[in-house]
Amino acid sequence: MRVLVAVKRVIDPNVKVGVKSDGSGVDIGNVKMSMNPFDEIAVEEAVRLKEAGLATEVVVVSCGVPQVQETLRTALAIGADRAIHIASEADLQPLAVAKLLKALMDKEQPSLIVLGKQAIDDDSNQTGQMLAALANLPQATFASKLLIVDGKVIVSREIDGGSETLSFSLPGVVTTDLRLNEPRYVTLPNIMKAKKKPLETIKPDDLGVDVTPRVKTLKVAEPARRSAGIKVPDVATLVEKLRNEARVL
Ligand code: AMP
Repeated sequence: MRVLVAVKRVIDPNVKVGVKSDGSGVDIGNVKMSMNPFDEIAVEEAVRLKEAGLATEVVVVSCGVPQVQETLRTALAIGADRAIHIASEADLQPLAVAKLLKALMDKEQPSLIVLGKQAIDDDSNQTGQMLAALANLPQATFASKLLIVDGKVIVSREIDGGSETLSFSLPGVVTTDLRLNEPRYVTLPNIMKAKKKPLETIKPDDLGVDVTPRVKTLKVAEPARRSAGIKVPDVATLVEKLRNEARVL
């Protein structure tokens, strides 16, 4: 069973980002970039399936600028077997990525496709769902547990007030939630080994996909600053202010 995992290079979650002065987007110049945390979980899960003898090959794919190859090398160091870089300098929106992944699936014929539930930069939470729809495949999103039994995927997912268990027959699409696993620490020997693993670069044109953006960003703004709080001397004053100034009591 071949597993295809989609990984996105995003601003490192520990970096505090700022908005460009012209309001056209977030300033990512000289900012540390990392693999999207949900995608790291996706790679870890795929590698565990291989280690358990359930998957035969783990292929990782990333779409974007040349630097995404660094992210792919990290995925190879976690344990993926080979990587595919779909090279594009364009602003790749979820629909374009879903179309690219669909075209790649037609070529690679994976049984299972694993994506993060969302990319922490755009928070779109769309690509996995769009891919499943375009490929006419079943999907189980926000997986917090994944089992494969007799060619069937069984996924547990957290929902309001409890958990839900879904099952589908392969092939299909799964997106990962935070509780699915804890990704392993990437060791230096594995980083060295990853440098020798195959990494192929292709272009959207090779896959016959038009990646023209469909959605236009009109403006990006910082959240409004909160005004400073005040200190009150005692509970009676607090209650008085909540009642007469804030009018919440
Ligand atoms: P999104 O729909 O943008 O929130 O992204 C959801 C998931 O789609 C991510 O966690 C990745 O697994 C995948 N994805 C999004 N953009 C890319 C990309 N440029 N390259 C590879 N995978 C991507």
